[in-house]
Amino acid sequence: DLTITDTEIKISDISFSYEGTSKLVLEDLNLTIHSKEKLAILGRSGSGKSTLATLIRGDLQPDKGTITLGGIKTAEFGDQITKSIGVIHQAPYLFRTTILNNVRIGREEASEEEVWQVLDKVGLKEMIDGLPEGLLTMVDEAGLRFSGGERHRLALARILLQDTPVVLLDEPTTGLDPITEQQLLDTFFDTLKDKTIIWITHHLQGVHMMDRVIFIEDGQLEMSGSPQEL
Ligand code: ATP
Ligand code: MG
Repeated sequence: DLTITDTEIKISDISFSYEGTSKLVLEDLNLTIHSKEKLAILGRSGSGKSTLATLIRGDLQPDKGTITLGGIKTAEFGDQITKSIGVIHQAPYLFRTTILNNVRIGREEASEEEVWQVLDKVGLKEMIDGLPEGLLTMVDEAGLRFSGGERHRLALARILLQDTPVVLLDEPTTGLDPITEQQLLDTFFDTLKDKTIIWITHHLQGVHMMDRVIFIEDGQLEMSGSPQEL
C-alpha cells in the first residue's frame, strides 16, 4: 500500500512517442506541479496535452525520464494511482446502471447520504430528487437522460466522492455553451479548491482563476507564468 504524504508531481526530462511511430510527442519536458496548485495546460490540438495527462496518470510510461508523485514513481502505484489522481475527460462516460452506481464508481462503499452530499455540491440534487426513482433511476445506455453539462456534473460528483488529492481535467467543458461552461468551471474550482487541479484547455476562458498557465508546443513547454503575466 503506497500512502503518500505530499502530492507534488515532478516530471523530469521525459520524452515520449507512441509505439510504432517515430514522432516525439513530448521531448525532454520538465515540470513540477505543487501540492494544491491550480495549473492550466494550454496548447494547440495535437500538441500533446492529453498525452501528458495520460503519462501523469501512469496509464502510459515515458520512453525516457521519470514522473513522481510524492517522491514515488507513478509507475509503481499501478491501479492504486486512482486513489491519488482523479480524471474528468472531455466526454464523461456514464454506465448503464443506476445513478447511484454511476456516482459510486471507485468508492462502492459510499453511503447514499454521501452520494446526496456530492450531488448537492454539483447542483444535481434537486433534479435527481425529482425523478420518480431518485438515485435508483437507470441511466440510459446512451446517457440520454443527461445533458452535456449534467454529465460533467455527474463526473465531478464521482471525483468528489473519490476525494483524490489531485484532479486532472482534460478539456472537461468541450462542446458546452459559454454560459454553461463558465458555470461548470465555477463549480469545479469552488468544490476542488483544496486539491491540486491540472486543467487542460485550448482556450483562455477561465484561466484567470489559475495560479499558473503553461503552453505546450513541439513537445516542450514554451511559456509559463501566472495568468497576469501572460
Ligand atoms: P487535442 O487538443 O486535440 O485534444 P492534444 O494536445 O491532447 O490534442 P494528444 O492527444 O496528446 O494532443 O496527441 C499528441 C500527438 O500524438 C498527436 O500528433 C496525435 O496524433 C498523436 N497521438 C495521440 N494518441 C495517439 C495514439 N494512441 N497512437 C498514436 N499517436 C497518437
Ligand atoms: Mg486532448
